[in-house]
Amino acid sequence: METAARVSRRGAERWAKGHPWIYRSDVVRRPPGPAGAVRVESEAGRFLGMALWSPASTISLRLLTREERAVDGGFWRERIAAAASYRERLAPDATAYRLVHGEADALPSLVVDRFGEHLVVQLLSAGVEACRAEIVEAVAERFRPAGMLARNDVAVRAHEALDRSVELLAGTVPEQLEVREGKVRYLVAPWSGQKTGAFLDQRENRQRAGELSRGRALDCFAYHGSFALHLATGADEVIAVDSSGPALERATENARLNGFGQLRTLEANVFDFLRTQEAAGEQYDIVVLDPPAFAKRRDAQAQALRAYKEINLRALRLLAPGGHLCTFSCSYHVDAAAFRAMLQSAAEDAGRPVRWLEARGQSADHPELLQVPESGYLKGAILQAI
Ligand code: SAH
Repeated sequence: METAARVSRRGAERWAKGHPWIYRSDVVRRPPGPAGAVRVESEAGRFLGMALWSPASTISLRLLTREERAVDGGFWRERIAAAASYRERLAPDATAYRLVHGEADALPSLVVDRFGEHLVVQLLSAGVEACRAEIVEAVAERFRPAGMLARNDVAVRAHEALDRSVELLAGTVPEQLEVREGKVRYLVAPWSGQKTGAFLDQRENRQRAGELSRGRALDCFAYHGSFALHLATGADEVIAVDSSGPALERATENARLNGFGQLRTLEANVFDFLRTQEAAGEQYDIVVLDPPAFAKRRDAQAQALRAYKEINLRALRLLAPGGHLCTFSCSYHVDAAAFRAMLQSAAEDAGRPVRWLEARGQSADHPELLQVPESGYLKGAILQAI
């Protein structure tokens, strides 16, 4: 029986250019079996590579290797070891960071985050789900965690016809964990927190904001206060604003954990808060804007850019002379050029010279693949008003 998938020329060309996904419309012969690792051939029957097969998804095939080899325990061990050695060279100044970042680690649709002795895993396609046993074993063998949790409660699993659940994979994982990030410590909620428990993609940006911090500091969209904690390493006064009371309770706990008495939280809508601060003539030496993705879909881009501009314009007006704005967007549908143009427009309306000091992105443990635009979503800038 023929079990290999066959793909169109367009599909083969995507792989040749380094993008690992082949869409359903480019699969000319579907493999008969269930999700898992399959052989992939050209229309003429030439071997192209081994891929993860997702029968229900529009992303049908995710390239694993162009070599003709078994996708077995040894294969996963090699890939996990390569991801681990990349992080060893990075030597993050933190106990919480990403160990495996999907496509950019040649481990498509797999995420592994480290929180000290504990790991949180996400299996984001039917293909990796089918290889779960070998993957979990390889991860456990390489990192020897005290516990491993699967945060598979993510929407993308629905596209793969997979259930959504949170499951203990190995050992024990407590409700709350304490980790260190540079000079600060914070609490993580691996079972229930956003993403895998914390926003690790902002780690280096938070440390950078901490280096610039002084005087009066403001963290907008603070969640558990992770930026605010770093701001508190240099500022005399820090306000962490978020619309979620429970998120701010944890921010308060985190402030206490670090002994930061100058950090206070405020439950408010950031749009309203910035407006009233501006009206009251308040000034800050550093402001952080780390909103949720305003553009969750492509057709929401224009509206999202208006919202980004509003908060950035108001934040620029709140800056004391020489003050810094650390501003971010995690909307994939707002690209770096659109983000920069939005900031330029906000600066023009703010009516004061604004320096572009640094372009910022995802922390290096969340690498982007140049050939895979989908792997880059977080962009940021550090601006200074003079
Ligand atoms: N800066 C954080 C992550 C922020 S996530 C970190 O580094 O960990 C985005 C946060 O924005 C969430 O906590 C959410 O509750 C909050 N949020 C969303 N819309 C908001 C609004 N209009 N006003 C205030 N907070 C908002």
